[in-house]
Amino acid sequence: MESSKKRKGAKRRHHTASNEKPKAERVNENKEEQNPKASKRRKSQGPVSNSSSSFLDKMKAKLSGGHFRMLNEKLYTCTGEEALEYFNDDPTLFDTYHAGYQEQMSHWPELPVNIIIKWLKDHSPSLVVADFGCGDARLAKSVKNKVFSFDLISNDPSVISCDMANTPLCSSSVDVAVFCLSLMGTNFPSYLNEAHRILKPRGWLLIAEVKSRFDSNTGGADPKKFTKAVCDLGFTSVAKDFSNKMFILFYFKKKEEQISKKKDIDWPELKPCLYKRR
Ligand code: SAH
Repeated sequence: MESSKKRKGAKRRHHTASNEKPKAERVNENKEEQNPKASKRRKSQGPVSNSSSSFLDKMKAKLSGGHFRMLNEKLYTCTGEEALEYFNDDPTLFDTYHAGYQEQMSHWPELPVNIIIKWLKDHSPSLVVADFGCGDARLAKSVKNKVFSFDLISNDPSVISCDMANTPLCSSSVDVAVFCLSLMGTNFPSYLNEAHRILKPRGWLLIAEVKSRFDSNTGGADPKKFTKAVCDLGFTSVAKDFSNKMFILFYFKKKEEQISKKKDIDWPELKPCLYKRR
């Protein structure tokens, strides 16, 4: 394995969303002011009544929701190298990010990772897979294939912690490269370049991305321009699937051989996917 790049730069601080307006609290206080009996009843229930503990849970959820949105925005607006440094400075932020991510995903009718798992199950289990930005490594846990899972940080020893622009795998060593909602950094083309390096000729590149990032009516990228850029990198477009409400799937294959030298590729900008407050 090659050693990962040296981490440099100033330490960063993270901000909690403690300045969010505690709306629920204000409502409760007002009610009690108007209704002194309610206040008495609450006191007689002991130091932590059911209602106050569920209120605390709600407040905690609000704070961590705000914190998740801040971290999510950070990941979409910095490079992978900066993101790695940021999470290495405080690995607990990664857990906060992933708890929020799972919460968001629980509202999606279908998860793209499950479509990719199904695709893999319909192909040979002998295909070697690289999962770029694997999150909780659900993909590796769900298929028989050999899967190399990459993410910035992980508590799971099966995950290789790295900036996925620089993985430790040898060139032309995998059959399938997967990016499932993980083209986050501003330098996302360098992740695709890395996938091209480690893929065998005719290897598959599967990309699932949030649909709004490709909605040109709302400032998203033109999917045709994105496809052309990936093809210029050395792939052939095999299929696109726009049928899901929340995400798009792109299926590419690495060209047998690189005919011309990689020219300056005109990559579209991929706008951040910012989640709304619920
Ligand atoms: N693929 C998973 C997780 C998606 S969330 C799933 O579908 O459930 C996106 C993941 O990409 C996050 O875990 C994030 O940490 C990771 N990621 C983003 N940029 C990265 C980078 N430069 N290197 C490694 N992982 C990265």
